[in-house]
Amino acid sequence: MAWKIQVNAIETMDNVMKRGIPIASRCCLCKDAAENRDHLLWQCSKTEQIWSWMCAKFNTQFDFTCIEDAMKKMKQRSKLIKDIWNSAVIATIVAIWKLRNKITHEEKDLNAKFCEKMIENQVKVTARLSKATGYNNLEKLKITREWQITTSSTNHPTMLLEAP
Ligand SMILES: [Zn+2]
Repeated sequence: MAWKIQVNAIETMDNVMKRGIPIASRCCLCKDAAENRDHLLWQCSKTEQIWSWMCAKFNTQFDFTCIEDAMKKMKQRSKLIKDIWNSAVIATIVAIWKLRNKITHEEKDLNAKFCEKMIENQVKVTARLSKATGYNNLEKLKITREWQITTSSTNHPTMLLEAP
């Protein structure tokens, strides 16, 4: 699956981050903690806001601290939701890393909006490419509306309460 390739890319990036971030430096986002990979991705108050924003659009909560747990969260959902969730998780990690690099090296005044745009674009592309079909249920409709994506799924009035 495409996202597995992306996860490998993230793991590679993760190693670069482990080597690349001097442990002693301050986090450039919150300026409140020592910067390391775990802080930046999962613990920083600034990136927590980005994760919470992303999770809210999936009607869920930011309660994971690694990629594996994040990927598990939508396991029970329909294929389309799983597809766009996985891509949103990866996009969030990539966006946070890019934001960190940009703030460190060039544009100091970038903020969470930069990440939100990247995540939204990625979700839209994934939704377009997803081969997922099947009926819409209420939750699926709510989530696709949140992300402003159109799907090839069918509306079926009797399926509105379809089990997840
Ligand atoms: Zn921080």
